Amino acid sequence: MEIRNNNTCINCKNLLSNFMCSKHNKTVEITNSCEKHIYKQSINKDSSCSNCNLYNTENCTKPEEASEKMICFDWKSC
Ligand code: SF4
Ligand code: SF4
Repeated sequence: MEIRNNNTCINCKNLLSNFMCSKHNKTVEITNSCEKHIYKQSINKDSSCSNCNLYNTENCTKPEEASEKMICFDWKSC
């Protein structure tokens, strides 16, 4: 069996915080997708706040909760 990656909103460059799509200016779901998808590295099993590009910056969306063992859907690769 071949295991493949899927293109969905969660690994699209057009996805903003709070699951807003910048392309369509509307809220989307993790499992949605469309023809405007642009691939970006997404959350994986090794992701955490400690390797999030937003950790300890003013752009972290959950500064009160962020810690080395936490993660949120706004995680961004370094
Ligand atoms: S452009 Fe398409 S795939 Fe990308 S976030 Fe918007 S709806 Fe999802
Ligand atoms: S709380 Fe979210 S945005 Fe902030 S550092 Fe953690 S993963 Fe990144």
